[in-house]
Amino acid sequence: MKTRKNRNLVILILISVLLSLMGAVYFCTHNIVNSLREEMQGTLEAVAEYNNVSVCQEITSKFQVLHSISVEMGCEPEQVEAMLGYAKGFVENYGFKRIGYAYPIGVAYTTEGFIQDMSYLDFFKDSMKGKTVITDTQKDIAVREGENVNWLSVPVYDNNEKSNEIKGVLFATYYSDWFEEILDTQSFDGEGYSCIIGKDGGIVAHSTSSPIGEADNFFEYLGKNADGVDAEELQYKLGKEGSGEGSFYLDGKQDYYYMPLDLQERELEWYIVTMVPEEVLAKRLEPIRNNMQWLLRILMLIVLGGLSVLLWNYLSKRKELMTLAYTDALTGGDNFAIFAKKLKEKKGTHGYLVAMDLSQFKIINNTCGIERGDQVLCAVWEMIVHCIGSDELAARIYADRFVIFLLGKNRTEIASRLEKLAKNIIQLASSLNIPKIRPVFGIYETWNQDAVEKNYGNAVQAKMSVKERRDFNYAFYERQDYEKYIENKEIEDSFEQAVIDKQFEVWYQPKYDATTGEIVGSEALVRWRRRDGSLLPPYKFIPLFEKNGMIAQLDKYMFRNVCEHQKQWEREGKRCFPISVNISRVSLYYYNLVEKYKIILEEYGLDPSLIQLEITESAMIDNNEIVRLLEQFHYAGFHMILDDFGSGYSSLASLNKIHFDTLKLDKSLVDFIGDEKGEKLLFHITRLAQSMQLHITAEGVETEEQVRFLQGIKCDEIQGYYFSRPLPKDEFEALLGK
Ligand code: C2E
Ligand code: CA
Ligand code: CA
Repeated sequence: MKTRKNRNLVILILISVLLSLMGAVYFCTHNIVNSLREEMQGTLEAVAEYNNVSVCQEITSKFQVLHSISVEMGCEPEQVEAMLGYAKGFVENYGFKRIGYAYPIGVAYTTEGFIQDMSYLDFFKDSMKGKTVITDTQKDIAVREGENVNWLSVPVYDNNEKSNEIKGVLFATYYSDWFEEILDTQSFDGEGYSCIIGKDGGIVAHSTSSPIGEADNFFEYLGKNADGVDAEELQYKLGKEGSGEGSFYLDGKQDYYYMPLDLQERELEWYIVTMVPEEVLAKRLEPIRNNMQWLLRILMLIVLGGLSVLLWNYLSKRKELMTLAYTDALTGGDNFAIFAKKLKEKKGTHGYLVAMDLSQFKIINNTCGIERGDQVLCAVWEMIVHCIGSDELAARIYADRFVIFLLGKNRTEIASRLEKLAKNIIQLASSLNIPKIRPVFGIYETWNQDAVEKNYGNAVQAKMSVKERRDFNYAFYERQDYEKYIENKEIEDSFEQAVIDKQFEVWYQPKYDATTGEIVGSEALVRWRRRDGSLLPPYKFIPLFEKNGMIAQLDKYMFRNVCEHQKQWEREGKRCFPISVNISRVSLYYYNLVEKYKIILEEYGLDPSLIQLEITESAMIDNNEIVRLLEQFHYAGFHMILDDFGSGYSSLASLNKIHFDTLKLDKSLVDFIGDEKGEKLLFHITRLAQSMQLHITAEGVETEEQVRFLQGIKCDEIQGYYFSRPLPKDEFEALLGK
C-alpha cells in the first residue's frame, strides 16, 4: 500500500516536472519565433538601408559626372560639339544611354547626334530654374518603343562671365535597368525584393524577382492585387515621410520596410520599399516549430502515460475497495452492503427475506476451534448458494448470520425449500464431525424491497421466535409478533428502574391445613405495580426475565422482601408461618446462590424454617449440579418444595435422588379430580410420596369436591382460590388478623 502511494507521488512529481518542461518549451518557441521575427524586420531594414545607400551612390556619382562636364564645358555651339565628343567617353563608362545639352530655347544636342526639342519637358524647365533633377522612370522619348529610362539634368552656368546666368541644361539619359540591378541585391535567399517608388507611388525601379512587372504605380498595383486598405495605409505612411514598417496582403502576407531615398538636396522624393513574404519566416521557423512540436508531443505522451498509470492505479484501488466493501472476506460471497444494494434494485418484486443463523454455532467455535468454525460457515454458505436461483440473493452478514432473498409462489413453497436447506445443513454435523448445529430461519414476506434494513429486522424478529423451539426451524413474521416484541422490549428495559422504585410487590396466597382448614403458611407471589398503577401478572414478565437472566435478581428481591416482612411480623410479635418463595430454574445456575440466600437470611437474623423454597420440577431433570445445590439448600436449613409436580416432565425417580421436603401437586393434577383414572393416579402419587416421608401440598384447588378428595387421600395442605386468591400484604395481614 505504502509503495503504491510512493509510486503515485513520484509519478505526480514527474508529471509536474514534465508540465513545467512543456511550458518552458512553449515559452522558448514563442521567444524564438519573436526574435526571428525581429531579426527578419532588422534584415528588411538593413536591406532597405543597403539599397538606399547603393542607389544614392549611383545617382550621386552620375550627377557628379554631369556636374564635372558642365563645369568644364563652354556653351558656344562649337564648344557644345566638342563637349559632346568628350562626353561620349562618359556615356560608355558610366552606363548612360546618352548625354545631351539643351539650349535655353529647348533645342538639345545629344551624344547620339540627333537634335531634339526639350522645351516642353519638366526636368528641362526645372533645371533651367537651377534645379538638379532626376525623373521618374519613363519611356525614352527619343525613340519609339523606348526603353525605361530616367533623365538626369543639371543647369549649366556661364563660367566665363562669372555670373550665375544659366546658359543651358546638361542632361543624361539613364537606363533604369541599372537601378534594378542594384535592387537585385540578394536578400532572404532571393525571396525578398525591393522597389523604388515616388511619393505618389510611381515606380522608378524594382527587383527583377518582384511580381510587380510592368505596373506604373505601386499604389495602384497594390490596390488591384492586394487589399486596398493596405495600399491606402502605405500611401498615408509615405505621406508622413520618415521610415517605417508594416505588412500587406499581396500574394499572401508580406512584411515590408520603407525608407525615403537619402537625396534630399536634389529634392527627390523617392522611397525604397523592401518586402518579404511572411511565409519565408514561416519556412525558417518550420524546422524549429517541427522540433518543438515533436518535443512537446513526446513530453505530452510521457505526461499521458503518467496520467494513465495514475488513473490505472486509482481504478484498480477503487476496484479493490469496492471488492472489499462488497465481499464477505470469509466466504468470498456477497456481504450485506451489496445484498441490500442488489435487493433495492428489485423494487416492487414480491419475495421473502430470510434471516438465518445457526443455533449452537458458538459451541463449534468453542469446542472445535475457530478454523473449524470457519470451515462450517463456508460449507453452509455453499449450501445456501446451491439452494438459491439466479434471480435470488444471499449474503453472509457476520459470524453465523446469513440473509437470503427468495422468490416463491407461496409460504408453503418457501417453507419446504428452507426445510430442505435445513436438513442438508444439519447433516453437516456428521460429515464434518462436529457437534449438532441447527439453522433457524425468520421469514418476512414483502413487496417493498427499498426498506431492506427494516425488513431484515422483521425477519430477525421472526427468527427469534423459533430460536428456543425444537419442533420448528422457521417462522414467518407476523405483525402481532412484532408488537409483542416491542412490548417485551419495553418491559425488559424498565426492569432496572422498577427494582429501584420498588414496583415489584409481594402478594401472599395462604396455604391451609387440609384437615383443620387453618392457615399454616403461604406462598409469596410477585406482582408488578406499573407507574400508571396497573398490575402486571407474572406470566407477562417472568418468562421474559428467565430468558434474559434478570429473574435471578427478581427472585433475590422477592426473597429479601419476604425476609423483611417476616422480620417485621416477628418484631411486632405476630404469629409467623413459613412462607414459600419461588426460585426459577434459571436462577439456580447463578454462582454461589445458596451462599447469597444464606447471607440475606442472616442479615435479618431469621430462622431458615420460616422460609421455604419452591423449585419447579422441570429444573431437576438429572442434573447433578442442581442436585448438589439442593443438598446445600437443605443443609442450610431451608424447607424445599418440589413445585408444579405433574405438570410435565414428572420423574418419580428423581424424587429418590433429590432431597425435597414437600411435593406440590400441580393444578393440572388437581384438575383430574372427578375423573376415575386421574383420581387413581393422584392416589398412587400421594401414597408414593408419603412412603418417602414427603409432605404433600395441592395447588390450584378451586372446588369443594377437590378439597374433599384431597382430604380423603391425606393431602397435608391445600392452596387455591377455593380458600383464597393471592392477596396484597395488607389484606393478607387482615386475613390473619395480624
Ligand atoms: P406457581 O408458582 O405455580 O404459583 C401458583 C400460581 O397459581 C399463581 O399464579 C397463583 O395465583 C395461581 N393460583 C393459585 N390458586 C389458584 C387457583 O385456585 N386457580 C387458578 N387458576 N390459579 C391459582 P401467579 O401468581 O400468576 O404466578 C404464576 C407463576 O409465576 C407462578 O406459578 C410462578 O411460577 C411464577 N412466579 C410468581 N412469582 C414468582 C417469583 O417471585 N419468582 C419466580 N421465579 N416465579 C414466580
Ligand atoms: Ca410456586
Ligand atoms: Ca406451582
